[in-house]
Amino acid sequence: MNESRVGLGIDLHRFVEGRPLVLGGVTVPFERGLLGHSDADVLTHAVCDALLGAAGLGDIGVHYPDTDERFRGISSLLLLEDVAAKLRASKYGVVNVDVTVLAERPRLAGFFPAMRVNLARTLGVDETRVNLKATTSETMGALGRGEGIAAWAVCLIQEAAGCRDT
Ligand code: MG
Repeated sequence: MNESRVGLGIDLHRFVEGRPLVLGGVTVPFERGLLGHSDADVLTHAVCDALLGAAGLGDIGVHYPDTDERFRGISSLLLLEDVAAKLRASKYGVVNVDVTVLAERPRLAGFFPAMRVNLARTLGVDETRVNLKATTSETMGALGRGEGIAAWAVCLIQEAAGCRDT
């Protein structure tokens, strides 16, 4: 039987003035954006960490450190593309990814179809293998005050057929 492995990714970024809000590779119209060394795409970062974790490959900070100028302002979809390549090199395929984004504002559901396409294409999987959900903090705490956005991602990956014995 081909081995299956689960992974969990969690990320949070703070809102600041003067930056675009990029989530799942989509620029969402909003009065603030997220602070970060890359495009601060918190959703895509959570997916990267879930996949790296499942494959036993550490985390996003190990592979794409925020001290490296090569990653300044980079589209996080490019990081995800690289993560997908690392998974393939480790002989793993993505079974599914499920993400919950916690944002008091803005409302995100209308942007999920485009984000889903971006993530699925970048991972090289069918859109049905990527699920996106949104929730709020019911105004409780820092996220409830709209100080930033958090994202949780879980994934299942599976060894490609026959890899185990080769
Ligand atoms: Mg991040």
